[in-house]
Amino acid sequence: MYGNWGKILRVNLTEKEIKVDTYEEEVARKWLGSRGLGIYLLLKEMDPKVDPLGPENKLIIAAGPLTGTPAPTGGRYNVITKSPLTGYITFSNSGGYFGAELKKAGYDAIVVEGASDKPVYLYINDEHVELRDASHLWGKKMSETEAIIKKELNEEHLRVAGIGPAGENLVRFANIMNDVHRAAGRGGPGAVMGSKKLKAIAVKGSKEIPVADKNKFMNVVREKVNKIRNDPVGGGGLPKYGTAVLVNIINENGLYPTRNFQTGVFQYAYEQSGEALAEKYLVRNNPCFACPIGCGRVTKLPTVGQTEGPEYETIYALGSTLGINDLATIVETNHLADEYGLDTISLGGTIATAMELYEKGYIKEEDLQKGPPLRWGNTEVLHYYIEKIVKKEGFGKELAEGGYRLAKKYNAEQYFMGVKKLELPAYDPRGAEGHGLGYATNNRGGCHVKNYMISPEILGYPYKMDPHDISDAKINMLLLFQHLTAIIDSAGLCLFTTFGLGADDYTDLLNAALGWNLKTEDYLKIGERIWNAERLFNLKAGLDPLKEDTLPKRFLEEPMPEGPNKGRVVRLKEMLPRYYKMRGWTEDGRIPREKLKELELEQFA
Ligand code: SF4
Repeated sequence: MYGNWGKILRVNLTEKEIKVDTYEEEVARKWLGSRGLGIYLLLKEMDPKVDPLGPENKLIIAAGPLTGTPAPTGGRYNVITKSPLTGYITFSNSGGYFGAELKKAGYDAIVVEGASDKPVYLYINDEHVELRDASHLWGKKMSETEAIIKKELNEEHLRVAGIGPAGENLVRFANIMNDVHRAAGRGGPGAVMGSKKLKAIAVKGSKEIPVADKNKFMNVVREKVNKIRNDPVGGGGLPKYGTAVLVNIINENGLYPTRNFQTGVFQYAYEQSGEALAEKYLVRNNPCFACPIGCGRVTKLPTVGQTEGPEYETIYALGSTLGINDLATIVETNHLADEYGLDTISLGGTIATAMELYEKGYIKEEDLQKGPPLRWGNTEVLHYYIEKIVKKEGFGKELAEGGYRLAKKYNAEQYFMGVKKLELPAYDPRGAEGHGLGYATNNRGGCHVKNYMISPEILGYPYKMDPHDISDAKINMLLLFQHLTAIIDSAGLCLFTTFGLGADDYTDLLNAALGWNLKTEDYLKIGERIWNAERLFNLKAGLDPLKEDTLPKRFLEEPMPEGPNKGRVVRLKEMLPRYYKMRGWTEDGRIPREKLKELELEQFA
């Protein structure tokens, strides 16, 4: 087999047992790897109804067939597990160098089962794999954890993925962090790792990933790298300003979420833009493994020293949606969130929910247990509550449960801006209705990266579509994005390669590496299988489609108050039935037997 090793490291923490399982190429031909392999293993081995924070939940860390190869951005891995925030599937794609190192160690995936009775970490050095005591690491931040592990193993070139105190304390939106600042976030995989008392995974690998025809593969790689470098976003805006290049663009288009999505225009947007970040705090770009784009930022601030980020989504979540326009506070809080292992989108989304509940009188002064008032624009809120959330102290205990549970406690769920209990990212769907349908139907809840309709609706990739067109053509584009991102994730690449590459380019890369001769439509079929498999997992976990494939009431009933989208709502009701139909699902959003058969998923029904 090329690309994949066909090897899975299985670690049972209850039994302290480690073994290597193998799988055949047939599995890769159906599921490709990484995200696809993860959902395949979960459906095959685990009841979707398990308690996400119980030992029965499995944590899968998986690289793709292109991870560890020179393919552009070929360093990515996914974490696949049942989310403690949503109760449904989550799959988190992360960059940096950890994924490539895991693959070079000779494994496609690690399946973590059970739970340890005391803190441990996993050390992998090619065939040498052991569980080590991590009692001395418990409570440590990410940078400390990495430094201590490297020192005690006397290995400077180890790559470490792990959890900070947020994951240890089971904060529902805790991340798994790798290379200190890279996050497998969204949906709380860090809390799952914490529930297993697994502090970290340290890996060193020395193997070269086998590809079918090295010369042919390298020629294809060079061609695709050139395409990305010649693209105005992939080779221009992203390397120059990072993902924060979006702040001004999204604000000018009137969908930059402000004060918990009360409006889509933030008057101080420029002060927190990629341009401002470059001017004030940028030290240099910081590309992930084999990345020709290099959107990552190394930044510096007197209070925290050298750090990384923030990303566009973080700037919105710790900035505009809280009414905050102080970029230094955003950089600083982002640094702390990385060290503690917190998802910045959910952190900001939860505090924004709390701020609106406070503004409207649901949360009272005394509920804050002496914490600072939750007023829009109050930077003290971030400094104070981030510590309380991580420690689950005072009002921080309620915030640590995420925005949905907080709003529900105060009987004000309408002010939670999320889908399937996952806080929304940085695009008000009243300004991009196809993107809104994407939020409503995404298998992991309110997420942007698995159906990035901002590309056609705002940025013009692969071509410009009217953000308020809700025709079948728009829904078809959404389906293409949902399936293509499943392929990109499963291959082990970064979504940002779509700024330069089209669907056929991924086919070229995969065929050259794997020695296959599939057409683009064959790969998209694999993407469709993965999407439906994740949906099946959610349905088995208890998803009620007609209630949960939806958006917060605000977007459906409250017209946008100002800007280019003034007067707009999302016409979800007109799109959703057509989406179900075009997917071949039933009118109530379920997958009929014929569709399961077509996608060879019947065995999991
Ligand atoms: S584009 Fe950015 S996030 Fe993607 S692999 Fe490159 S540096 Fe990492």
